Amino acid sequence: MRRIARLLTLLALPLAAAGCTMHLNAVEGPASIAIPTSYPWESTIYAVRTESGVLLVDLGWTGAARPLRRGLARIGARPEDVTDVFVTHSHRDHIGAWRAVQQARFHVGASERAMLESLKEHADLPSRAGDLVLGNPAPWPGEVNVHSFSADTVMVIGGDTVRAFLNPGHTAGSASYLIRGVLYVGDAVYRSYVTGYRPASHIFTADHAQSRASLVSLFDRVRPYSPAWVCTAHGKCARPDERFIRKVLGDAFPDTAPAPN
Ligand SMILES: [Zn+2]
Repeated sequence: MRRIARLLTLLALPLAAAGCTMHLNAVEGPASIAIPTSYPWESTIYAVRTESGVLLVDLGWTGAARPLRRGLARIGARPEDVTDVFVTHSHRDHIGAWRAVQQARFHVGASERAMLESLKEHADLPSRAGDLVLGNPAPWPGEVNVHSFSADTVMVIGGDTVRAFLNPGHTAGSASYLIRGVLYVGDAVYRSYVTGYRPASHIFTADHAQSRASLVSLFDRVRPYSPAWVCTAHGKCARPDERFIRKVLGDAFPDTAPAPN
C-alpha cells in the first residue's frame, strides 16, 4: 500500500509542474466563472449562468463542492441552480463535486458512461492505483441522471447552444464542449512549463495515439464555429489559432498547403 502511495506521489509531480492557471479571466464575466479546485494541478470547474440556471463543465477534485459553492456565488448562483453538467471525462479529478449537483443532467460520451457510473475501471495505471488507494470517487447507477451521446451532438438549453464533440483517447469517451465561443477540451490538451501545450499526457491516457488523432479531427470539426478560446481541464486557456494548433499537434499537424506545381 505504501509503495502505491509513493507511486501516486511520483505521478503527481508532472501535474505539479503544470500548476497555475492561464488566461482564465478571458472566459470570465458577469455570467461565467472558472473555479480552480485543487492545488497544485488546478483541476477546474467552468460555470456559465443561463436564463434558466447554470451549466457546468466538469466537477473538479475531491472536496470541490466548497469552491464550487463559493465560485457560483460570485455569479449569483448556487449549486442547486445547476441544470446541466458537461463531463469531459470521468477521471477522479474532474468529477469531485457530483454530489453537490445531483439534480442536474450529466452529459457524457457514451463510451464514458460505464466509468462515470462506477461500472468499469479506467484503463490508465494512475487512475486504477488512485481507486485502489483512495476509493471509488464516482456515482453508482441511478445516483445521477446521465445523458450520453455517441456522436457529435448539438444541445439547445434555453437560449444557449452547446456543441458536444467526441474525442476519444485520453479516456474511451472523452468529449469536448463548445459553449459561448469557448471550447472546453478536458485533458485532451495538456500544458506544462517544460513542453508548453501538448496532447494528453501519456501516463494518464488510455490510448495516446487515438487521443492525438482525435485532436487532429477535433480541431478540424470545430473550425466552422471559430472558437475564440480553448480551455483545458487544468485551468489553461489559449487562443486556438494556427500557431497554437501547430504547437499542440506537432508533427501530426495536417499539411493542408497546396501542392507545388
Ligand atoms: Zn484526465
